[in-house]
Amino acid sequence: MTRKADAVQERVLGEILLRNAKTEYLRRFQLNGATDRDTFKSKIPVVSYEDLLPDIQRIANGDRSSIFSAHPISEFLTSSATSAGESKLMPTIHEELDRRQLLYSLLMPVMNLYVSGLDKGKGLYFLFVKAETKTPGGLLARPVLTSYYKSEHFKTRPYDPYNVYTSPNEAILCADSFQSMYTQMLCGLLMREEVLRVGAVFASGLLRAIRFLQLHWQQLAHDISAGALNPKITDPALRDCMSKIIVKPNPELSKFITQECSGENWEGIITRIWPNTKYLDVIVTGAMAQYIPTLEYYGGGLPLSCTMYASSECYFGLNLKPMSNPSEVSYTIMPNMCYCEFLPHEPDAPAVSRDSPPPLVDLADVEVGKQYELIITTYAGLCRYRVGDILQVTDFYNSAPQFRFIRRKNVLLSIDSDKTDEAELQKAGDNASALLQEFNTSVVEYTSYADAKSIPGHYVIYWELLVKEPANPPTHEVLNLCCLAMEESLNSVYRQIRVADNSIGPLEIRVVKNGTFEELMDYAISRGASINQYKVPRCVNSSPIVEFLDSRVTSKHFSPAPPQWNSERR
Ligand code: AMP
Repeated sequence: MTRKADAVQERVLGEILLRNAKTEYLRRFQLNGATDRDTFKSKIPVVSYEDLLPDIQRIANGDRSSIFSAHPISEFLTSSATSAGESKLMPTIHEELDRRQLLYSLLMPVMNLYVSGLDKGKGLYFLFVKAETKTPGGLLARPVLTSYYKSEHFKTRPYDPYNVYTSPNEAILCADSFQSMYTQMLCGLLMREEVLRVGAVFASGLLRAIRFLQLHWQQLAHDISAGALNPKITDPALRDCMSKIIVKPNPELSKFITQECSGENWEGIITRIWPNTKYLDVIVTGAMAQYIPTLEYYGGGLPLSCTMYASSECYFGLNLKPMSNPSEVSYTIMPNMCYCEFLPHEPDAPAVSRDSPPPLVDLADVEVGKQYELIITTYAGLCRYRVGDILQVTDFYNSAPQFRFIRRKNVLLSIDSDKTDEAELQKAGDNASALLQEFNTSVVEYTSYADAKSIPGHYVIYWELLVKEPANPPTHEVLNLCCLAMEESLNSVYRQIRVADNSIGPLEIRVVKNGTFEELMDYAISRGASINQYKVPRCVNSSPIVEFLDSRVTSKHFSPAPPQWNSERR
């Protein structure tokens, strides 16, 4: 595939255009059955989700005609990126499961080139399904991983000695996140000596599991010493399956767990409990890089392996050097997954407009060192769709380029798979600061910070206030309520992760002294920022700036309750 990247890309585009030739979308742009790149590029516009929304809504409402794809839409995948406060809905087709499976199937053969003996034990992976909903037209809407774990591809996968998990399917598929995590952790503890790798999809998931162990080791140790399952596990299929795993008391193991977990020092806990672990399998590139220090602490320096780069729209590629240091990770986009184009990403690049097609570059033609925005055309029917990721070319593997994930466009804050952009943060701040009116107080400046040091991490908002009646400043209670008002205004993915998954902690507002933001500007200018063009950063992540802001904090406030969230789409 990588040897003939360009030819494969040409074939992929041809196949997609041929099968979808009669779709409403391609006909709308008068492609007239053409399957070649030039015609495609000259007629089909580059689009973002908002452009497709009216068509997506038709499908969600039950229109079964071939709008994007000649194949029936099998379900919607809910992306953690949002549009108007709701998660994006990506139409998908059944066959995409095969393509995802194909990419998964490449991971272990690559890993085996670097780590031997992985067939001699098991993987302790914390994998979860999330709540699913139905659209008004009856299609399921759920995250891509939930769709995959519930598919026959996953549930009835053939035995493969390289992919044996400690977690039974029943534990992964249990929709109750406590029962799922509890039993997965219990299995991991019972099989501790067999575990060769420990992982989760994203770094935040693995840290959540460690936090869970900190909170529940006593009960887990109790179950192990009694040889009986915690009655809080009520799911009948899960109880039944666990009864075959926790068969007899094991006081020795229970004592060991108590010894390790009751101490204050959790440094290297993963290597202590799972001594045969060779690496941690978690994505720590992009927004997840903030968790590297914490993972290194708990992981006792075990290598961190980022294996793949994927999204709800399409799975893109894999890391061919999975044991490389996180700062050096590059992903090779597999040319057979979708048709990829690249919009050069430079500060002065012309804005994308429909009238003048942007100069998009093909996969095989990108240049090492340059940054691009990824634009994809998929078998499921997305055409020239802006994924929103900025990638930098680091090298080529045969003729397929390799990319470092630079960042996601417009995302300011992210703790788990939530993505909060500047407009959302602004709106949340406006809604919250309305509560300060009765105190004749306004917010003069703000910035934000994703605090990943605690588990779970949480959003921190720095507020500089203008209190016009110093005798009547806003109370501690009202500032707490401002935290909640912000959370209520954040998008549904944030609220779901905060409420249903407990993977984000209560939002915090830190009030800073008057003049703090002016000092921040002075600092930026002293470091070379232009005084004319200076803009307050709406998110900060460098430690000196965070330390500076923290040194000016006068009070701290937390959301007193979880925000509203229900699994129905509005
Ligand atoms: P979603 O649409 O919720 O499936 O999220 C997909 C997005 O997650 C991608 O477009 C990326 O922004 C991000 N992502 C996925 N894989 C990686 C990775 N290996 N490194 C960094 N970011 C990633």
